[in-house]
Amino acid sequence: LDKPEKVEVSDNVKVVVRCRPLNEKEKMMGHKQSVAVDEIRGTITVNKLDMTSEPPKTFTFDTVFSPDSKQLDVYNLTARPIVDSVLEGYNGTIFAYGQTGTGKTFTMEGVRAVPELRGIIPNSFAHIFGHIAKAEGDTRFLVRVSYLEIYNEEVKDLLGKDQMQRLEVKERPDVGVYIKDLSGYVVNNADDMDRIMTLGHKNRSVGATNMNEHSSRSHAIFTITIECSEKGVDGDQHVRMGKLHLVDLAVSTTGQRLKEATKINLSLSTLGNVISALVDGKTLAYTVSQLLTKLLCANIGPADYNYDETISTLRYANRAK
Ligand code: ADP
Ligand code: MG
Repeated sequence: LDKPEKVEVSDNVKVVVRCRPLNEKEKMMGHKQSVAVDEIRGTITVNKLDMTSEPPKTFTFDTVFSPDSKQLDVYNLTARPIVDSVLEGYNGTIFAYGQTGTGKTFTMEGVRAVPELRGIIPNSFAHIFGHIAKAEGDTRFLVRVSYLEIYNEEVKDLLGKDQMQRLEVKERPDVGVYIKDLSGYVVNNADDMDRIMTLGHKNRSVGATNMNEHSSRSHAIFTITIECSEKGVDGDQHVRMGKLHLVDLAVSTTGQRLKEATKINLSLSTLGNVISALVDGKTLAYTVSQLLTKLLCANIGPADYNYDETISTLRYANRAK
């Protein structure tokens, strides 16, 4: 495989924060909007709406999204440049992080049946295959996907035939951290990708006894590998490969989960580190090949009763910058 010509190695994580709207139930119960989002300044201010004299807390991020932000704006300002770089042969990772019910799935997947409510994942499928459709001459693309889940420090292949099987996390000097025997499927269009995503989704709940507990503690990583073969100026075919990891980091902030959150935070620098931290807390050296562009989307709720969780998510996101 050819290395991309320009290699921009940056260990920085771009951090964005999205606040969802108050929902009907919260409005009915009289909950108040305690989070103010200033998209121009890039700030989030959290007010404690009780009788204490706690001053408002303000955090600044690269980009912040207010409760009425549109899915396509979120895509264009967060994922689009990363997907473009993956199409050029770089690696990219997009993480969604936050308390259950704050909009991680809405941001990453959205409502796939409603075009304007589609999230980052379906929009990236459309973007990737739109790009491929425009390829000219001898340029060929091969797109493969894999989908895994980490739950209770065990790795499951969400596209595997045997859903009872657990996979091993391995490490090699040349490839870094990898998952042994993880299946990969070739996909030819956005619909194929969508079907595979849906299958993986279904498998995510297989064997779960308590869906709420499961979804607040299970992490999922959807990986799209794009190989591009192109005729170079020397007349030979050259192949480059980019990987896009889409990660749903479900982390709540109580007890055991706080420990997990800290582990993830300590090793957010590479996806391999994240996987290994989630699996066994081991720390590993940074390998350039693993990922070059990272984006963390921290999701928060707007209501006063989420104060503690919101502050803790914003602090975590702040440290990830
Ligand atoms: P999570 O994956 O973090 O647990 P969800 O994405 O499932 O949270 O969101 C919880 C609920 O809030 C869902 O019903 C979802 O449709 C809704 N929701 C989340 N974010 C938004 C948003 N930005 N605009 C409208 N509804 C949203
Ligand atoms: Mg979710």
